[in-house]
Amino acid sequence: MGDGIILNCKKCGYQKDFIFGIGFMYGDLMDVIETIPKKHREEIYPIVKNYDVHPLFEQKVFKCNKCNGLYNKLWVKIDYDGNKTYETKYKCYKCKIDLEEIDFDLDNEKNQDFKFPDLICPKCGFKYLDQPMIILWD
Ligand SMILES: [Zn+2]
Ligand SMILES: [Zn+2]
Repeated sequence: MGDGIILNCKKCGYQKDFIFGIGFMYGDLMDVIETIPKKHREEIYPIVKNYDVHPLFEQKVFKCNKCNGLYNKLWVKIDYDGNKTYETKYKCYKCKIDLEEIDFDLDNEKNQDFKFPDLICPKCGFKYLDQPMIILWD
């Protein structure tokens, strides 16, 4: 089971949910690999085929620092061949720049000084999106 959040904007009504972590369908990377873009799949297949690897993978949320776009992506990291590492790098489809991972740190959410990261609405630019609602998914 994974965690998730629903972000919404008070001003324009933008609402979107994002999931993190891994669900029960995520036994093996190959079960969920179809959910990532072809370009990345083509980089991953040969590594998984040629090396005995234990890929790390989970759903993560990324943002574009230029247009404030928010993305939910399957992140994959594979150590292989002794000292090589493959890690998915995602770009904003609009701005073509690298996306930055957002760490919501839900485990610390109950701490008093815990603060959700400030996010700008990708639709209208309003600062900031509402304190998100936390959801669970499977
Ligand atoms: Zn962008
Ligand atoms: Zn908005």
